Amino acid sequence: MAEARRKGKTVGFVPTMGYFHAGHLALMRRAKKESDLCVVSIYVNPKQFGPSEDLAKYPRDFKRDSSLAAKENVDIIFFPSDNDVYPQGYLTYIDVEKVSSGLCGSFRPGHFKGVATVVAKLLNMVQPDAMYLGAKDAQQVVVLKAMVRDLNFPVAVNVEATVREADGLAMSSRNVYLTPQHRQEAPALYQALLEALQSIRRGERSAKKIIRLIETRIAQKTRGKIQYVACVNADSLEPLKALEGNILIALSVFFGTTRLIDNAVIRLNKPGKKQG
Ligand code: AMP
Repeated sequence: MAEARRKGKTVGFVPTMGYFHAGHLALMRRAKKESDLCVVSIYVNPKQFGPSEDLAKYPRDFKRDSSLAAKENVDIIFFPSDNDVYPQGYLTYIDVEKVSSGLCGSFRPGHFKGVATVVAKLLNMVQPDAMYLGAKDAQQVVVLKAMVRDLNFPVAVNVEATVREADGLAMSSRNVYLTPQHRQEAPALYQALLEALQSIRRGERSAKKIIRLIETRIAQKTRGKIQYVACVNADSLEPLKALEGNILIALSVFFGTTRLIDNAVIRLNKPGKKQG
């Protein structure tokens, strides 16, 4: 790769935890289109899993992943071991303040510290020109953009829209753990988000009402256990009372032990003004 870089070739990088689905593949396709070389990392980062989370049972299938990546003409799969990433005596962590603490961060202490740390390391190891992230993990995007800005990583951060199943469920490696019943109910998350967007477009400006609408729909249509539903400023992730500006509506719901997240973004120019 050093050779390719010396020749002035650009590198597009997609960090992942593997077990590829169409969301990962969309990131690879874009990276490949926009760069000379596409590098994908597969690393299930232990430092972003809490003690009671699903690190051990996180789905892994390197063979399947490498054949899917080959179909997307990925040039390099970077598949480091725990020892490569965190050799004995490892001491250094990256804590992106404020934006790491709300939403998922309030329920997963240390999660974004683990994410920021591993992505900083991967960026140093791969040295890409551009990194590709999915909008599905909205808080992750905000955290990593802040890290790249604050620590002067010489990398462009590009975000791809969430890829969904035909029924609207956001693709996730964790979807394989849904029971048939939960799988049938899970698209209600996206439907509730769409209904919320519709309500905002019709003029609703109370975050409380939008949150209640989403919570009610999820309770009516699923047996999922809501962890949070929030309306925040999409850039600062600060909670909103009156809906205005660039709004992120984010939610996290447990179906059994499987935690699903989803979100939607809507931009309003002026409070109370209708948007298309
Ligand atoms: P993961 O392997 O879950 O850590 O995800 C690796 C990258 O793929 C992250 O940037 C995710 O945001 C992105 N990603 C995951 N699911 C989707 C999806 N449904 N659509 C688009 N990007 C996604």
